[in-house]
Amino acid sequence: MTAIGAPVVSRGTAVMRGICGRCPACGEGRLLHRYLKVVDRCAACGEAYGHLRADDAPPWMTIIIAGHIVVPLLLMVERSFDPPMWLQMTIGPTAAIALALALLPRCKGAVLALLWSMKAEGSETD
Ligand SMILES: [Zn+2]
Repeated sequence: MTAIGAPVVSRGTAVMRGICGRCPACGEGRLLHRYLKVVDRCAACGEAYGHLRADDAPPWMTIIIAGHIVVPLLLMVERSFDPPMWLQMTIGPTAAIALALALLPRCKGAVLALLWSMKAEGSETD
């Protein structure tokens, strides 16, 4: 459901715009509001996004990416510096939570943009 007269956007561009939290169609309006809520329509171009459902893909992407960053870093720090256990138990979970909170809206934006670019309308259309 692309707006009439809107330029064609490549899938890669759309996903990059989604990662940045921007409208995949125009790159101007916001895709998410209040952290993870999907906007019904882009404020800039009017493209509809309220019907897209990302479901569990963004949390899974977040877990996979954060796990592949945090676990190797913790193992490298453990081998290199052998910090005390209380420090590891403080920094590790804090880093994992902070990274997950930072990645989750970006992953959701990427999934929504991918769904939009593939014209995956979903089952919850208005
Ligand atoms: Zn837009």
